[in-house]
Amino acid sequence: MSPVWDVIIVGAGPAGSTLARTVAAAGYSVLMLEKDRDIGMPVRCGEAVSDTSLRELVDVDPRWIASTIRRFRLIAPDGNMVEPDLGGHGYVLERRIFDYDLARLASEAGAVVRTKSYVDALVPGEDGFAGVRVKGNNGATIERARIIVGADGVESRVGRWAGLRTETRLRDMECCAQMTLSNIPVEDDACDFYFGQSVAPMGYLWVFPKGRNTANVGLGISGMAAKKRSPLSYLQDFVARTYPQAGILTTVAGGVPCAATLESVVSRNVVLVGDAAHQVNPVSGGGITSGMRAARLAGEAVIAALRENSPQRLGDYQRQWDKGYGAKHRMYYRIKEAVHGYSDETLNRIAAGVLALKPEKRTIWGVFRVALTRNPALIWDMVRVFGLTSFDDDA
Ligand SMILES: Cc1cc2nc3c(=O)[nH]c(=O)nc-3n(C[C@H](O)[C@H](O)[C@H](O)COP(=O)(O)OP(=O)(O)OC[C@H]3O[C@@H](n4cnc5c(N)ncnc54)[C@H](O)[C@@H]3O)c2cc1C
Repeated sequence: MSPVWDVIIVGAGPAGSTLARTVAAAGYSVLMLEKDRDIGMPVRCGEAVSDTSLRELVDVDPRWIASTIRRFRLIAPDGNMVEPDLGGHGYVLERRIFDYDLARLASEAGAVVRTKSYVDALVPGEDGFAGVRVKGNNGATIERARIIVGADGVESRVGRWAGLRTETRLRDMECCAQMTLSNIPVEDDACDFYFGQSVAPMGYLWVFPKGRNTANVGLGISGMAAKKRSPLSYLQDFVARTYPQAGILTTVAGGVPCAATLESVVSRNVVLVGDAAHQVNPVSGGGITSGMRAARLAGEAVIAALRENSPQRLGDYQRQWDKGYGAKHRMYYRIKEAVHGYSDETLNRIAAGVLALKPEKRTIWGVFRVALTRNPALIWDMVRVFGLTSFDDDA
């Protein structure tokens, strides 16, 4: 019979690898299973992160960085451009290197990493789940574990199999399309965000530079808007209009759960992290560092549960997340709901209002202050969010 692992992690994205590294470094046996052939591929991501958030989680390796972002430009439907002061910097990553390296670090800490290993079921046990069924090169096998982690991304099934409520409302599922374009005129230190009904209804379009005249150009629109017209067709229109000479190096589609975190992210001996738990910033759709941060919290709870042989300790993770970043994400969610309702006319007025501010007042806080004068109830959420952290924090 195969050994009983302390932890099995389903999915080797940033959240899975961070958790694998944390738990393996504490001396526990960890098996991380990834369905794809290559970790980090295909890349379905704009790849933007803030320096502060990333540095808090991992030593940043220059090989992960395609470009360093110091400017952040918001483009209104009428073309007015606002450039708020970021008060920090960010990066556009090379996720194929970044994800791969996070898995390598987990493996160096002692985790066993297996690719081409598709988990297609949880195996019921006496108290919770005894393990997972894996389809690999040699057919289906059973791997047993004391704790199972679903880090299986936006299409997560582990949570559902464990009996957790994982559904997302259509309006909260951002449907995305992205192209990596070459031969386009982009400024390497600036990320651009376009807003408006004709560009990206109930969402936004991004241009994130990757150096050498290339960029990730993509958009996310609410599932409600995507029912009427596909994100890809909005993107194709934008690219044809803005970058007619572009070469198209990749085209990908994907979803981002821009909702508050799931109500329960733990069920008996099963834990969810990252996109699987909807731990994405609902305003920006950023989930890389947010999922890694959750994975670190979950990893600490997993270690305590293993040490004390007490799955109840997994609840620490739920409580800590709910109190900290979970609470922030609920506020971000309310802000997103308000901003998504703004018409093009309102967005234009906000841009004009910000441009009327003195340059030193054109901070992200300044932008939101102008935006939220239309919705005073949200001002208190903003004060709480920005009282706790700067907007440089992409969690
Ligand atoms: C178009 C687009 C643009 C984005 N842009 C940004 C951005 O600029 N910045 C940002 O911070 N976030 C961005 N995001 C979100 C970000 O990509 C995710 O939040 C992040 O990847 C989540 O990490 P994760 O580890 O939770 O899941 P993932 O990175 O999705 O990893 C999950 C892994 O699980 C594997 N898996 C799934 N099911 C199984 C199974 N049954 N068995 C074995 N393995 C399985 C998958 O193959 C995958 O490798 C974007 C998302 C999209 C779609």
